[in-house]
Amino acid sequence: ADVIAVTGSASGIGAAVVAALRADGHEVVGVDLRDAEVCADLSTADGRRAAVDGVLALAPALDGLVVCAGLGPHVPDPLRIVEVNYRGAVEVLDGLFPALRGAAVAVSSSASTMVKWADNPIARGEEAAALAEAGEFAGHLAYSWSKNALTVAVRQRVAQWGAAGVRLNTVAPGAVDTPLLQAGLASRFGDAIRNYQAPIARRGRPVEIASLIRYLLGPEAGYIHGAQLMIDGGSDALLRPTEF
Ligand code: NAD
Repeated sequence: ADVIAVTGSASGIGAAVVAALRADGHEVVGVDLRDAEVCADLSTADGRRAAVDGVLALAPALDGLVVCAGLGPHVPDPLRIVEVNYRGAVEVLDGLFPALRGAAVAVSSSASTMVKWADNPIARGEEAAALAEAGEFAGHLAYSWSKNALTVAVRQRVAQWGAAGVRLNTVAPGAVDTPLLQAGLASRFGDAIRNYQAPIARRGRPVEIASLIRYLLGPEAGYIHGAQLMIDGGSDALLRPTEF
């Protein structure tokens, strides 16, 4: 059996990933604020270090890693969205890289394509100033910027990780029925989420995202590296048919 660490293991997509991996007979080290093998707060540098150290204490060698913990655009503090979704993912990837053989998957978002890296303030470390001026859309900008920066960070690591024999990919879900999405539906942006229809006219299910992640971690995906796989019911192709 493989040993696989999963952040955001307590809810939604992360919980579905844990269930799928355990059903395959793997050992999972979950990381979350609560209800996990390693309880740590990925919104702070200290918490991220504690998460990495806590995983390594339980599993000095890892066959797989899934960084899934994240906050939605509805969360009131937009800087916290950047801390968890971007730094909370990248610092755990980098911190556990030396212990990894096998593969890792980062859960980005279809929102990662809504900004260009050249226009992303995170690229210049200027997100705090940019968010201070962002007004009511600060949470949505923080979300898109954080996911764009995460996908770029993954793609920037392909040479180093490939040389070490560790594959690294992102999945980019569209709207998936989880507590995070439910909170968005209950926010003042709820109608925009409700009215948006993907070509496959329903929301994704956490098990469907987990199934792709399970595949990407396994040997059948042995030549997939540095890819971002959209899993969005066709929304990306609908919105950007000529860009890929
Ligand atoms: P969720 O809220 O059900 O699960 C997220 C988990 O992350 C929770 O268990 C939460 O406790 C954990 N988490 C949040 N802040 C944390 C922190 N500071 N430290 C440690 N753990 C923390 O949400 P979900 O929809 O399953 O989201 C999982 C991932 O999928 C996120 O990265 C999200 O951005 C991404 N995603 C979700 C959707 C969607 O529509 N649901 C779409 C695209 C991408």
